[in-house]
Amino acid sequence: MDFGTHVWRNGEIIPMEEAKTSIINHALHYGSGVFEGIRCYQTERGTAVFKLKEHMERLHYSASVLEIPMPYSVEALCQANLDLLKKQNLASGYIRPVACFGEGKMGLNPAGADIDVFIAAWGWGKYLSDDPITVGTSPWIRIHPKSLQADAKINGHYVNSIMSSQWAHNNNYQEALLLDYNGNLAEGPGENLFIIKDGVMYTPQLGTILSGITRATVIELAEKELGIKTIETTLKPEDLVNADEAFFTGTAAEVTILKSIDGNQIGTQENKTSGQLKQLYADVVEGRIEKYDDWLSYV
Ligand code: PMP
Repeated sequence: MDFGTHVWRNGEIIPMEEAKTSIINHALHYGSGVFEGIRCYQTERGTAVFKLKEHMERLHYSASVLEIPMPYSVEALCQANLDLLKKQNLASGYIRPVACFGEGKMGLNPAGADIDVFIAAWGWGKYLSDDPITVGTSPWIRIHPKSLQADAKINGHYVNSIMSSQWAHNNNYQEALLLDYNGNLAEGPGENLFIIKDGVMYTPQLGTILSGITRATVIELAEKELGIKTIETTLKPEDLVNADEAFFTGTAAEVTILKSIDGNQIGTQENKTSGQLKQLYADVVEGRIEKYDDWLSYV
């Protein structure tokens, strides 16, 4: 993969080859960092970042959970993302800001370690598939909300997602689905889940999942554009098996429709509503619907 020529690090844009770190790095050893994943799209008015401020606010929130003293404001970080895209001349792709405890300290209390904040950006096409995907229920449950704070995007949490993704891959599924500690539907390794049954849309309530920015976008678009309200509630695995339609949402995954769960086809696979939402989302992020233009930050 080509990760571009430059990165933004601690206030300046530097060549990628200068962006090095010691092997004595707190986050490298313990996962003590927070991160975001953001997409930028080519629009008629140039490159635009989708919901940049929301992502930088969530980065700040995640940092506060892990007690990372964030040296840059939301506004400064938004500008840093845009500056990097300009420097990289990237028309569309993926942006990865990280804030972590870095060098200078070992031991589980990170206080005293250097704070390292950096942003990389590179071209990245479809994360999953444009066509409906096969999904398997992961034997690994989503992290327990009393072990870790599931709504913070903390690097170390992602071992749970990595192991689920490896399991899915090893079992010939395109993606995994994780249940929560009560056996209820939770989310994918990097995606929120929606199901549609008898014209009503449902999604797992917050608590054991990441509060996805795409999730919030799709809830709003479904209500405003299609007149469909979403019920945020506790959902059982049977609700997915018996759904008419199901889809994942995520910055990387965008709207990805589910074909089957554990080998059982979901609904008739006509996917009328999820297909409409997938198209709507693409139209919004690519700047084709003017009323949602304030969700885009133009480079
Ligand atoms: N859940 C998890 C565990 C994730 O990593 C992601 C990706 N950030 C999502 C859901 C979707 O969140 P978003 O729509 O904000 O990208």
